[in-house]
Amino acid sequence: MVKKPIVAGNWKMHKETLEGVNFVENVQTKSSKIDNVTVIFCPPFTALFQIKVQSPFFKSAQNCHWEEKGAFTGEISTSMIKSSGAEYVISGHSERREFFGDTDEIVNKKNIAILKENLKPIFCVGETYEQRESGKTKEILNYQISEGLKDIDTLNEIIIAYEPVWAIGTGMTATIEQIEEAHSYIKNVVKGIFNSIDDIQILYGGSVNSNNAKELINVPGVDGFLIGGASLDVDTFASIIKIVETNQEKNNNG
Ligand code: PEP
Repeated sequence: MVKKPIVAGNWKMHKETLEGVNFVENVQTKSSKIDNVTVIFCPPFTALFQIKVQSPFFKSAQNCHWEEKGAFTGEISTSMIKSSGAEYVISGHSERREFFGDTDEIVNKKNIAILKENLKPIFCVGETYEQRESGKTKEILNYQISEGLKDIDTLNEIIIAYEPVWAIGTGMTATIEQIEEAHSYIKNVVKGIFNSIDDIQILYGGSVNSNNAKELINVPGVDGFLIGGASLDVDTFASIIKIVETNQEKNNNG
């Protein structure tokens, strides 16, 4: 089965509830003809429970706890996320790794909990600037993927997002060559772990915007985007969705 390309918008800590609800309505209205792209909104929890989506639009949480329930003040479980109607959860985002202590072991526990609840992880991996400069990109990707997917035996529902940390929110997009090489390497690592790559989707994230989306979606191995800043504006986000849809039509016709 060929899966549709994905455009996921990670709002991070932006948009209050009503603003988020209106935003989602506006994007869906503007993109009403879209049917060859899977669009995923990743709002804060407050808006996650209020926004209404209809396929090909879906909802994702930005984080979760790995335990089913318990004394974990301020945390939210995967079953709670499921009860919001969300189908995806972001794991391993570099901001969680950097500011909230999400180690590879924790990311692995989260991935297991997400899959157990029949949700789909959008599992983020990527190297820092220093790691790339010192030639450690592949080593880091290998480690993050191997540890993050430990004790998981099916990759069918997993989405990987390659997000070089130095490209997130900086306006410094990775080059075509860097993206192609990283995506192909990630596929090899996954193949090594699961003995197959099925139809796993690998997204690119890092300063994607409406000016570079066309070039980036055409990079071999790029199955869609995880977008931060450019996912916050209705027109910009809708135009990126349209660019990906157009590219998809091109592929189908070609
Ligand atoms: C992100 O936060 O995952 C991201 C890719 O952000 P931006 O698009 O702003 O670089």
